[in-house]
Amino acid sequence: MISAPVVADPVLMPDSEAGVRLLLDALPMGVVVLLPDGQERFRNTVAMSIAGARHADVLIEVAAERLLNVALRGFESREQIQLAGPPQRVLEVRAIPLADGGAIAIIDDVTDRWRIDQVRTDFVANVSHELKTPVGAISVLAETIEGESDDELVLRLTGRMVIEAQRMSRTIDELLELSRIELGGEMLLVDIDMADVAAEAIERVAPMAMRSGVPLNIDSKKGTSIVSGDFFQLVSAVKNLVENAVKYSDQTHQVDVRVLTTDTTVSVEVEDRGIGIPADSIDRIFERFYRVDRARNRATGGTGLGLSIVRHVATNHGGEVNVRSREGEGSTFILQIPRVLGPQ
Ligand code: ADP
Repeated sequence: MISAPVVADPVLMPDSEAGVRLLLDALPMGVVVLLPDGQERFRNTVAMSIAGARHADVLIEVAAERLLNVALRGFESREQIQLAGPPQRVLEVRAIPLADGGAIAIIDDVTDRWRIDQVRTDFVANVSHELKTPVGAISVLAETIEGESDDELVLRLTGRMVIEAQRMSRTIDELLELSRIELGGEMLLVDIDMADVAAEAIERVAPMAMRSGVPLNIDSKKGTSIVSGDFFQLVSAVKNLVENAVKYSDQTHQVDVRVLTTDTTVSVEVEDRGIGIPADSIDRIFERFYRVDRARNRATGGTGLGLSIVRHVATNHGGEVNVRSREGEGSTFILQIPRVLGPQ
């Protein structure tokens, strides 16, 4: 049987103050209503929770008061307030004049929207900056080739152009992957065995490891390391860690990948015996485009985006990524994700 659609009927709208309060209390945002003489007429539950003594509450309260006064004079206005946190939050206060001469203020948590805007702005700035270098190089190389008749030199220059173009293409691919993961919108959460994730990641890096002569070793047991996650994202994270371990190791230095479980977590540890990371860079390596050694990086073709991807995947899964490293001795990256109790 098909039931009739629920139609908003003005007759059924609450006509009592208590009914309206009930509705306003159900809203996820703060609402404050003033009478035309500036007296507070009503404050819903969320707005009441804001009227505390904490520094953040005072900031919001002061902004709401200021904007409500403007609204009492007949003007609508809005203001964003950034609270340093942690956790960092952004609230928007908006005040609107009411037909009876009073005013209403709406206090809304817009942190998610603000974060997405921020990611977009940074993304554009980073892309333009990082693509300028290879585009500039290609342009100079093309101009040189234009007036060149020496075949051997032309061949060498076109070879350089191909390398720069490939570099640009890798940066674009990783930026797109990072922005997809950062926005976290398309996550497909299912029970996943991290042993499968590690095996898939290793399979993808194996050809590169073989070319570099770095042996890859995996230690995992299927069936015990179940997490709730997005397979594409988790493989991308572990692949980036294994790829780095190979990239920053010398030939014959083995890379070990271990999948470990505790009662509550599953960890993938990627250990190399490579160049290690200087102590003063450790805190920065997860930043977008940060590279310890740009010169070496030109040779390895690194984009500086891999570890940002890993960190975002960890955050999207309620986990974290940590690193232990000693310069000249090697590094161990640990990706830790909350465990789902699967079949033992
Ligand atoms: P990249 O594409 O440059 O490798 P990442 O974001 O993956 O970018 O890493 C950032 C920087 O951290 C690298 O440029 C490198 O300097 C350093 N790094 C990452 N992993 C390792 C590792 N296993 N050993 C040594 N240095 C590393």
